[in-house]
Amino acid sequence: MNDLSRRLFLRYMAILGLAVFSTTALYAKGTKAKYKYQETPKDGKTCLECMHFVKDKNECRMVEGSINPDGWCAAYYTLPKKKTVKK
Ligand code: SF4
Repeated sequence: MNDLSRRLFLRYMAILGLAVFSTTALYAKGTKAKYKYQETPKDGKTCLECMHFVKDKNECRMVEGSINPDGWCAAYYTLPKKKTVKK
């Protein structure tokens, strides 16, 4: 294999890898049972404030099916709240 064809082959493989990576979901959704989903809040925490919740569709990026905004599951996650400095 000469230098030019090796370079073309490597370039082709890099482009192919990027195409596969960019079109494949990084994670698959799991069932409600897997994430212990419940239709009610837990300790005041709800899907509505979870970063995985898709408000306009009432769906979740982690859990399959329709999601109740007042529900909760084990994958609940919110960004930590910023501390405010008193002046
Ligand atoms: S709490 Fe669970 S079901 Fe609700 S939005 Fe977050 S990850 Fe999805």
